[in-house]
Amino acid sequence: MTSVFEYAPAPESRSIVDLRPSYGLFVDGEFTDGTGTPRKTLNPATEEVLAEVATGSDEDVDRAVRAARRAFTRVWGPMRPADRGKYLFRIARLLQERAREFAVLETLDNGKPIRDSRDVDVPLAAAHFLYPAGWADKLEHAGLGPAPRPLGVAGQVIPWNFPLLMLAWKVAPALATGNTVVLKPAETTPLTALLFAEVCRQADLPPGVVNIVTGAGDTGRAVISHPDVDKVAFTGSTEVGRSIARAVAGTHKRLSLELGGKAANIVFDDAPVDQAVEGIVRGIFFNQGHVCCAGSRLLVQESVHDEVVASLRRRIGTLRVGDPLDKNTDLGAINSADQLARIRELVDVGEAEGACRWQPDGELPGRGYWFKPTVFTGVSPAHRIARDEVFGPVLSVLTFRTPDEAVAKANNTTYGLSAGVWSEKGSRILAITDRLRAGVVWANTFNEFDPTSPFGGYKQSGYGREGGRQGLAAYLQEDNR
Ligand code: NAD
Ligand code: MN
Repeated sequence: MTSVFEYAPAPESRSIVDLRPSYGLFVDGEFTDGTGTPRKTLNPATEEVLAEVATGSDEDVDRAVRAARRAFTRVWGPMRPADRGKYLFRIARLLQERAREFAVLETLDNGKPIRDSRDVDVPLAAAHFLYPAGWADKLEHAGLGPAPRPLGVAGQVIPWNFPLLMLAWKVAPALATGNTVVLKPAETTPLTALLFAEVCRQADLPPGVVNIVTGAGDTGRAVISHPDVDKVAFTGSTEVGRSIARAVAGTHKRLSLELGGKAANIVFDDAPVDQAVEGIVRGIFFNQGHVCCAGSRLLVQESVHDEVVASLRRRIGTLRVGDPLDKNTDLGAINSADQLARIRELVDVGEAEGACRWQPDGELPGRGYWFKPTVFTGVSPAHRIARDEVFGPVLSVLTFRTPDEAVAKANNTTYGLSAGVWSEKGSRILAITDRLRAGVVWANTFNEFDPTSPFGGYKQSGYGREGGRQGLAAYLQEDNR
């Protein structure tokens, strides 16, 4: 799109990535064929087929769970915790050494800007290995009981919005606490998980400790419903989360769910407008809005509404949308045709229900899946765009007059993953954040992540925490706390 400044193209080279025409499953330390029908994974920015990837059947999942069980019983469970920690440190270092390769591959498979995969996804993934690695031999001092014990085999299913980072959130705490894993990546973004499998081999991780089984929903269902899985961890849609909760109910399995969100980003009239606008942009347009904790509902105090919206539109007009491999790109491609269709449908509903849609001028690339950054004003709490997760670059603006009204509107959602507050007054920030029913609340910032800090939701955003010491507890027996 055109913007105030023209920038020369600054593409990252894709030659660092060695794409193979086809990929298998990673089971018991080996790459093997899957018995299901393979699927193609695309570059959503160009619709180019990147590779064909195996689909794991029930049989393949069973093989993976048996490998994980063997590794748990014979090797990983009995191993000295300090040695488990060494493997995790080694994996983290390899992620750092191969960071550029991971970043380019993530951008190709997912469509996110290289700036984000390079500066956020990959370094954070390494950090999410480093943090639990440090705890591995100190678990009895983590406030999680005198002799914490692992659960066994974890079955983990992850989404496509942060493929490598969600893998790290799942795999690292499981391994650090002595569990083994079978992980299923999302069907549109399996490639960095398979590169991670190579890293596991490079790190000499014992076979069976990490198993990666690719495929779509059926493969995910096989993983979570396998009887020899002790722990299920899922990140994705509320709908699938519900079906998993039903499938796991009445079994011995422990469950943690990280589902969607509809976060309120609350801007008070004393907030510094320029900083708030940067935070609003980061809140909703980071990662094309494919973020479960995105600040998708802007609650702005009525007296500064016009000023904030005008300034926001000016800022959005300078965002560069296009080639994800270009280092100057702010917004990349929408991850899939399905997701693009869901975004379009909800945006149409927003217009039909009477909200006012605004998008900047400019052209989108001709091929691939794209959506312009979009702002709806005149949104009422009853509108679907104020209630449903769009999971795209679409912001709904609502107003409030008093702090009480801000809190009431912010909490008026079936979700409760995150929220943001913008004000110059510290006492106000403390008073408001205390009343917000959300797992993470940011003050004068948004979408900041740190492996030492627990992350998770209230209500239909799910249960259980990831990150921090709390994230380790999700992989430990509860009986000796
Ligand atoms: P999804 O929940 O269908 O997919 C997430 C993962 O679950 C994928 O790996 C998928 O293969 C797997 N899966 C699908 N059905 C399954 C089943 N029955 N049992 C086990 N695993 C199963 O999400 P989606 O269709 O990719 O996206 C739909 C919507 O979900 C999005 O529009 C967004 O609102 C939300 N979403 C939220 C997050 C999040 O981070 N919380 C991530 C992705 C999508
Ligand atoms: Mn892809």
